[in-house]
Amino acid sequence: MLLGCIADDLTGATDLALMLAREGMRTVQVNGLPDAEAPVPEADAIVVALKSRTIDPAQAVDWSLAALNWLRSAGAERFFFKYCSTFDSSDRGNIGPVAEALLDALDAPLAIACPAFPATGRTLYRGHLFVGDQLLSDSPLRDHPLTPMRDSNLVRVLQRQSRGPVGLVPYETVEAGPEAIAGALRDAEKGGRRLMIVDAISERHLRDIGAAVAAAPLVTGGSGVALGLPAAWRAAGLLEGAAEATAIEAPQGPAIVIAGSCSAATRAQVAAAKARMTHLHLDAARLAGGAEQVEQACAWVREHLGGAPLLVYSSADPAEVEALQAKLGREKAGGLVESALARVAETAVAAGARRVIVAGGETSGAVMGALRVRQLAIGQEIDPGVPWTRALDGPDLALALKSGNFGGEDFFTKALEMLT
Ligand code: ADP
Repeated sequence: MLLGCIADDLTGATDLALMLAREGMRTVQVNGLPDAEAPVPEADAIVVALKSRTIDPAQAVDWSLAALNWLRSAGAERFFFKYCSTFDSSDRGNIGPVAEALLDALDAPLAIACPAFPATGRTLYRGHLFVGDQLLSDSPLRDHPLTPMRDSNLVRVLQRQSRGPVGLVPYETVEAGPEAIAGALRDAEKGGRRLMIVDAISERHLRDIGAAVAAAPLVTGGSGVALGLPAAWRAAGLLEGAAEATAIEAPQGPAIVIAGSCSAATRAQVAAAKARMTHLHLDAARLAGGAEQVEQACAWVREHLGGAPLLVYSSADPAEVEALQAKLGREKAGGLVESALARVAETAVAAGARRVIVAGGETSGAVMGALRVRQLAIGQEIDPGVPWTRALDGPDLALALKSGNFGGEDFFTKALEMLT
């Protein structure tokens, strides 16, 4: 195995797995920390998906180190720590603490930190992250339910959550190509830096960064920066074969969409899908009052499954989300909605659903947990960063797990129409 990856959430893991698969690596995604005796799948890259983005930093470090140890014992020699392309984190972490712990465990001096992914509008210039035309702090991410991002300067953001000094490889250096980038990283290492934010505003920059860090024991970033690694390894004779698009074959059966993301893109997708799908709104504010609403939703799913695709959503606008969080606390509100949607998904699959789309990273993690799906084969891409996948264990399902802000407005119908 060439590469062992640790992702801090499930949709992010899929996004990375897709990137590697598209670039010609045989890639398997494992959901959750594998048991010590779990069989090692045959692959060039294994991506372990944790749900560690918003948990306590010490716990995130423990899980990440356990994943590192499993990947090491499975034969990986290079490692990738994957987080969101919008750098979703807080001043407590968990990007800085996990990256530093992995560096320590690998006895490595320095790693890059590069969430840029120009194909999805995430560009980094002078250390500042843009989402489309907006600074991160002006984008809808400023109102994210769990990790509101209100500072666009990632050197500052990462420094607040790190022990060691954080630096920047600026645009001019990246523009000058792989040698210049590698030189800047060597200088940074001599200067005692541990984590280096790297500017990137184009795919060429990502490929050059990949070439510059191909020999590094640890790379941290979004899936974008993984773009350049397979090509660099192929050039070095470490990876054989060309890139080949693989498609999954979806099992036949009813479809359901579960939306727990409150991101702007998902809310637009829900609004568009309501015209075309049989839909049910889960009122998050009523969930704390008891299980009645969830049981009603499950009964509704059992009754309607098998006709037009179903849509069950809790997605709400920022004011509504804030009101509930003020009442219950951020984590309790999130957890309540996640377990309600997971229960709905479980009910749908028990009732025969075979094609399941989930919107929201945390929501996807909760749904996969309830469905007991651990391993995913990566299939055809629906929209940038989101493939169809097929469960390799648990119930036989086609699954599309979408990070909240990903996908075009017609994502749900487009995804279902792609399957035969
Ligand atoms: P994204 O990928 O957009 O970040 P996530 O699923 O990761 O989406 O996060 C959204 C969080 O918001 C989840 O914890 C979810 O349970 C919670 N949530 C969903 N609907 C509501 C709502 N109406 N009010 C408050 N929180 C909500």
